[in-house]
Amino acid sequence: MAWLRFSGVAAGAMLSVLVACSPVPGPSASGEAGADPHGAWPAQRTTAEMNGAVAEWLEGLEPDDEDLAQRGLLARDDLVDIRTQDGQTVWNTAAFAFLDSAPPDSVNPSLWRQARLNAVHGLFEVVPGIYQVRGYDLANMSIVEGENGRIVIDPLTSVETARAALDLVERELGPRPVSAVIFTHSHIDHFGGVAAIEEATGEGAAPVIAPAGFLNAAVSENVMAGVVMGRRARFMYGGPLPRTARGHVDSGLGKHPALGTHTIAEPDILIDRSGQILEIDGVRMEFQYAPETEAPAELTVFFPDFEAWCGAELVSRTMHNLYTLRGAQVRDALAWSAAIEDARRMFAGRTNVIFNSHHWPVWGRAEAEAFLVAQRDVYKYIHDQTLRLAAQGLGPDEIAEEIALPDTLGEVFAVRGYYGTLKHNARAVYQRYFGWYDGVPAHLDPLPRIQAAQRYVGAIGGIEATVEQAEAAFATGDYRWAAELAQHAVFAEPDHGGARDVLARSYEQLGYGAESAPWRDVYLTGAHELRHGIAASDTVGAGAEILDAIPLDMFFAALATRLDGLRAARADRVFNFVFTDVGETHVIVISNGVMHHRRGNAADDADATVSLTRNFWTRLMRQEAGLLDMLGSEDFSVDGDRRALYGFFGMLEQPDSDFPVVTP
Ligand SMILES: [Zn+2]
Repeated sequence: MAWLRFSGVAAGAMLSVLVACSPVPGPSASGEAGADPHGAWPAQRTTAEMNGAVAEWLEGLEPDDEDLAQRGLLARDDLVDIRTQDGQTVWNTAAFAFLDSAPPDSVNPSLWRQARLNAVHGLFEVVPGIYQVRGYDLANMSIVEGENGRIVIDPLTSVETARAALDLVERELGPRPVSAVIFTHSHIDHFGGVAAIEEATGEGAAPVIAPAGFLNAAVSENVMAGVVMGRRARFMYGGPLPRTARGHVDSGLGKHPALGTHTIAEPDILIDRSGQILEIDGVRMEFQYAPETEAPAELTVFFPDFEAWCGAELVSRTMHNLYTLRGAQVRDALAWSAAIEDARRMFAGRTNVIFNSHHWPVWGRAEAEAFLVAQRDVYKYIHDQTLRLAAQGLGPDEIAEEIALPDTLGEVFAVRGYYGTLKHNARAVYQRYFGWYDGVPAHLDPLPRIQAAQRYVGAIGGIEATVEQAEAAFATGDYRWAAELAQHAVFAEPDHGGARDVLARSYEQLGYGAESAPWRDVYLTGAHELRHGIAASDTVGAGAEILDAIPLDMFFAALATRLDGLRAARADRVFNFVFTDVGETHVIVISNGVMHHRRGNAADDADATVSLTRNFWTRLMRQEAGLLDMLGSEDFSVDGDRRALYGFFGMLEQPDSDFPVVTP
């Protein structure tokens, strides 16, 4: 029952795919000839020209971000090499040493710039008394000094990175106890390392402050749709890619998600309204409650004595995602923009510095105001212009092509599309209002991908003719069309080496030209999988405490999505699940191929009653226990119709965490 994404290392089979008859890589404009050891081609002329034009545009526009990213540096380890206990790399800054040069043709210069800024690491003073560890994780750890100890804002993604960051803080600023922890929002890069603080301070010694709804949002995000999101996240973050100028260079927010051991803590103090005030360890704090913005549960916090505002991830130095490419529900652009305006009205007049959960701070009152205005405006601009264009009859594809930012926003680097993009965010707004159907009758019931591909290839004149046309499009630098044609060719004939090869090369050039790091990683991962097959996931498991924090209801809701409805259609059953240690009973009812569940009293008419412990359940989820353990364990027993129960288990489908994406 491996149906929880973060429940351990997925044992994905390595599919070795050999691409036959690859043509010899052409020389790039800069003369970098030949495929690299990973099979990646150089940038082709069109890509190099496009990136050259970006470089020209950048010149003269670039603000002093290089200085700002270095400002206040107190200490830096030359090499940050963080590993798990068994030696697995969690974070290694040396992997990005290649960024220390001029942008190569194979990276959009604007993304290269962001990638270099995100590679700056160390301990920095924001203002006297407020510090940040940056570049030790995807996210920042911020520190506010109190009378007797320090407040830690966002203890990073994993215990390993948080421990390294705390070590750096203590080495430089001296050892002090942690007097409070703030989780700014429900994404794991802002709480997963909390156990490192408990190790240092003692469990429960420092109160944890979080936005209302934190725990539920934090643990639920990956339960229901986790397998698909996990698979797609490998594309979005370039998991299998080498860190090279033809591979992964950045993720837009920071270098990449940190691996390691993820933990969670239950909040002691919830922020559920704006204007809420706390004073802890002599530090006065004014909170903003900003749910349903960048995260379902999010807060920001103003420190009046420092004239400093922590904007969490409500604002950052990139256009963020209204929709994330790993797959997620679309966020509310209007609520997000409104929350930024609320923050501006509450705090901007008293703010001399903004420091956030990602990227480097914004210093100066006028700069802070301008930063907030641009952040506020960009999401509402995308929202309003998408609906304006839709009202002219444009569909999502046309809107994505047509929408453009005015220079007044387009030349503001802090809202450029390094993470989210204008194109996919506009599609997200369309989707939020109109859903998947664009209103064109031919799109109501289209042929599925494989059938469509076979028919297109037939209409074009066969597989060779299709590949030839894709090659012709590639040769002229029309990579989007080349990819479209080659995608049909691969889905019609997945073993055709020439089809796979031209598709991989087309994706690659699209990746090289992308300003958005997730776009680059999506394309390059596509090319990588076409050439090398699907690599086993390098996901590192959630700690048991995250699994223990997930309400059992959520597991049963997810279990229902594994039931093969047609097979179960006539297998109407009732089962009780009695969790002996936590005193919870859940009743499962199967009817018409649908599994319902409710928490409550055991059903009298159950076919079987399962007694088990929450711990055994967690071990099942972590794949530390299987069917054999069920038969022999004292923590698991069945009373009633065992055959019916095992028959039900047999109708639960094992999800495929390595399903194919770029091939049928
Ligand atoms: Zn984050």
